[in-house]
Amino acid sequence: MPSDLAPYPPALQAATLARPALSVVVPAYDEQEVLPAFHARLVPVMEAIGLPWEVVYVNDGSRDGTLALMLALRAQDSRVAVVNLSRNFGKEIALTAGLDHAAAEQAVIVIDADLQDPPEVIPDLVAAWRQGFDVAYARRRAREGETWLKKATAAAFYRVMKRIGGKVDLPADTGDFRLMSRRALDALLALREQHRFMKGLFAWVGFPSIPVLYDRAPRAAGETKWNYWRLWNLSLEGITAFTVGPLKVATYLGLFTAFGAVIYGVQLIIRTILFGNPVAGYPSLMAVVLFLGGVQLMTLGIIGEYLGRVFNETKRRPLYIVERHVPSEAQPPG
Ligand code: UDP
Ligand code: MG
Repeated sequence: MPSDLAPYPPALQAATLARPALSVVVPAYDEQEVLPAFHARLVPVMEAIGLPWEVVYVNDGSRDGTLALMLALRAQDSRVAVVNLSRNFGKEIALTAGLDHAAAEQAVIVIDADLQDPPEVIPDLVAAWRQGFDVAYARRRAREGETWLKKATAAAFYRVMKRIGGKVDLPADTGDFRLMSRRALDALLALREQHRFMKGLFAWVGFPSIPVLYDRAPRAAGETKWNYWRLWNLSLEGITAFTVGPLKVATYLGLFTAFGAVIYGVQLIIRTILFGNPVAGYPSLMAVVLFLGGVQLMTLGIIGEYLGRVFNETKRRPLYIVERHVPSEAQPPG
């Protein structure tokens, strides 16, 4: 390698050497309890890989001491980069901010701060990447410490997405924990939509991908910010960002009820001709009116969901605001 670099001017050489091969991107929101433990577990794993690396910690507007901890880690270890967002933007955007600031030349690894994604899996991801895959995504073997309700709803969500998701194939039991080659990352970063359903975006980018199995541990400390309401919203996000299927549902519901109405009408005419018209049917009238009202409101709601997203995208706002960025320091070669 050194002889390869010889013809380049020294400044360029330095710039080339200064970039780490791997970046680990970690979004964190109120993670002061786990962050030191996370870093302590990450460092030996990354050192064993034997490539220059950095870790990009993104503070997503934490209300606790997370930022101070990150800066303390940066002071001790120059392989740490810190991106502090101006407020809480949510995990998907915090992750994007971290990926934007990743200096890695070759590949990035995305991992949660709460130690649910064990850093010990990273060498397996790297091994898969070395075999030539652009994306190595960690697939959970077991969901420990999660309620049956959460497991069932997650399974249902993946099934629904598969049905209506069209061309983009969402791998099941897969979170954001993954490794991406630089070119896959660049492709991902070209997608700047406001409504970021990361799992879907990862899948949309494509490239040769391979799952790596691991056991997902329960959260080490702190608590999950994903209550059912947020998960429901995430599912809505996933569905509306990747398919216009629900809009078609509206069309077919309309067609179906119109068809039913015609049949019912014909039947009424025949009945009136044959048996006269004893006026009755307040209950059936009410039922039909209420049913149609419900269907109309629901389809309007679906249209509204999409319209709202169109509205948000048209504003062209930046995805996030960085309050402070402390880059990691030049890596010694090798
Ligand atoms: N996170 C974040 N911003 C948020 C919520 C979460 O950066 O608004 C981070 C959080 O610190 C963690 C990761 O995203 O590193 C996953 O969050 P969490 O553990 O709450 O989600 P779960 O593991 O339950 O999916
Ligand atoms: Mg978690």
